[in-house]
Amino acid sequence: MNTSVKGRKMLVEGQWMECEQVIEVRDPKNNSLIDTVPAATAEDMRKAIEAAKEGVKIAAEMPVHERIAVLNRAADSIQRRSEEFATMIAREGSKTIREARKEVRRCVETLRISAEEARRIHGETISFDQMPGSENRIGYFYRFPIGLIAAITPFNDPLNLVAHKVGPAIASGNAIIVKPAEATPISALLLAEAFDEAGLPPKVLSVITGNVSEIGDVLITHPDVRMISFTGGLQAGQEILSKAGLKKIGMELGSNSPVIVLSDADLDEAVEANVSGAFWAAGQNCLGVQRIYVEESIFQEFAAKFIERTLQYRVGDKLSELTDMGPMISERAAIRVEKWVNEAIEKGATLLCGGRRDGAYYMPTVLTNLPSDCTLAEEEVFGPVVTLHPVSDLDAAIQQSNHVNFGLHAGIFTRDLDKAFKAIRHLDVGGVMVNDSTDYRIDGMPFGGVKGSGLGREGVKFAIHEMTEPKVVCFKLS
Ligand code: NAD
Repeated sequence: MNTSVKGRKMLVEGQWMECEQVIEVRDPKNNSLIDTVPAATAEDMRKAIEAAKEGVKIAAEMPVHERIAVLNRAADSIQRRSEEFATMIAREGSKTIREARKEVRRCVETLRISAEEARRIHGETISFDQMPGSENRIGYFYRFPIGLIAAITPFNDPLNLVAHKVGPAIASGNAIIVKPAEATPISALLLAEAFDEAGLPPKVLSVITGNVSEIGDVLITHPDVRMISFTGGLQAGQEILSKAGLKKIGMELGSNSPVIVLSDADLDEAVEANVSGAFWAAGQNCLGVQRIYVEESIFQEFAAKFIERTLQYRVGDKLSELTDMGPMISERAAIRVEKWVNEAIEKGATLLCGGRRDGAYYMPTVLTNLPSDCTLAEEEVFGPVVTLHPVSDLDAAIQQSNHVNFGLHAGIFTRDLDKAFKAIRHLDVGGVMVNDSTDYRIDGMPFGGVKGSGLGREGVKFAIHEMTEPKVVCFKLS
């Protein structure tokens, strides 16, 4: 028995609870047991949703100054415990310790921005007298909280993506139940601890761990849940949409992100940014660079520099300061990526480097000559694999970038403003990064995609907008 295993509890209705069954949380690097979390039953979930009625009232009645204070105290607590949080992110997930520390810093920032945005949930006065006959009316609208929000989160950013739902929900006076990913639930439980320590009134936040096959349907179909805020893959997103019924839906889904490198770009800058963009978190990043379209005249030079830099990437122990890339979330995930790469090679792709698997580790992999009829060409790889494509010009690059059924971020490297603006106008995505890879985000900007990449926007202010509704007030004067 691993003596560091204490058996974590989940936070339900203000109580830290155990369940009869548990889920084992294992380190993907060697499958060693980190800890266990409760495996809630469908009945546990139903009871928590029904009990949250009270939490909805408490959250809505919390004065804004208290919401601000709680959010800031939770941020302080995470900042104080940042190394503990980062170590857990690195152990239960696949991030390196340096990547995990960045996630913790961003989580603190997300909660601080939530505290600031809580002050700015404004309505407007309405000029009713714009309609003849309404001259003696006066009024306004304000935004009210939607009620109970279900947050369903993925494994790859197990802390900050939870904070992106919890922070705005509390700032806007909502109650929220989080169902974290089965592989990385402990980071979400640590976040719940920080809110508990910060004095968030009981019942406003629950974090319920368990197997999605047992608790997922109750959470997404229950009529008391007024909004589902989902971050995850397209397939799960579509399943949720087909079952959810009449609820607000926020969908932050995956991508297959393109970057365009034109011949006037700073090549070293483009190589550095895109190697990091492709292999951050072992490519398990919704913003990860998957396809790079390079103008033909510089393709060979770019490819040579890109491979040279990729081969310097240090793959290994997540907790070492020297490691650039850790394992994938499971051996199963690495085997899937291996299959996709092998399929592409069998159909004619050229392997430039990588293409090797060792347990859950998949080496940083670069391919070219990708055939159009393989899985990698269409789907989100969500692993450390990037494909290089020579293109004749910007128009061809834009056309090929838009070809897939995803559209989260795109990037373009150029010094030519006209070309940059042309790309911005024609790339079918939620965000265009000029002279950076697709892997750029700050926590206060609108974030989300088009096509198979999602519905709605996150980024604290924008999430608050989705989590509130306008209520119109009209006084008829005599
Ligand atoms: P996933 O879709 O397998 O799971 C995400 C969450 O949904 C988990 O908590 C899972 O248990 C739950 N889930 C799965 N099926 C469900 C169902 N039918 N009903 C209810 N809940 C269900 O995704 P993952 O493997 O954890 O994460 C990777 C995916 O997430 C990638 O596609 C990635 O691009 C995407 N992602 C998107 C963003 C974004 O902000 N756009 C950020 C991070 C990750």
